Amino acid sequence: MPTFVYMTRCDGCGHCVDVCPSDIMHIDKTYRRAYNIEPNMCWECYSCVKACPQNAIDARGYADFAPLGHSVRALREEAKGTISWRIEFRDGRVKNFVSPIRTTPWGSIPSPADLPPPSGDAMQSQELAHEPDALNIASGLPALAPDQLKQGVV
Ligand code: SF4
Ligand code: SF4
Repeated sequence: MPTFVYMTRCDGCGHCVDVCPSDIMHIDKTYRRAYNIEPNMCWECYSCVKACPQNAIDARGYADFAPLGHSVRALREEAKGTISWRIEFRDGRVKNFVSPIRTTPWGSIPSPADLPPPSGDAMQSQELAHEPDALNIASGLPALAPDQLKQGVV
């Protein structure tokens, strides 16, 4: 299910409009509230959910962490520097997760157009373009050594 906006919470600030990579969050000209103009094109990326200061946007949780019949709430608390996830499963169990908000300044991450084009050798690598630098992992992507794959095997 794509995003939907609780009209009674939305104040029309437009943060979701600015952040949506699909450009599908718009402000209704009459009601001055946000709404998803093209639900079929929503990635369910949660960018707008996290950016909304009013906690006014809801979306379906991905099936890998919240199967059918659940509800998910994401709460961004800038003062604490966290995003909290509350998942209520259909059998009534509740799980809460807290993750940090990225703290790099807005606009400080270069766009792909600002970086050199990948070389032909990159086709042979398991890394995506501009990794590992883009992940701030100087020593390369973490990987299991063969002997670590045997842990727990008797
Ligand atoms: Fe746009 Fe992502 Fe929000 Fe969908 S979840 S409306 S794609 S920002
Ligand atoms: Fe409304 Fe939240 Fe979007 Fe602001 S970010 S326009 S409060 S839904």
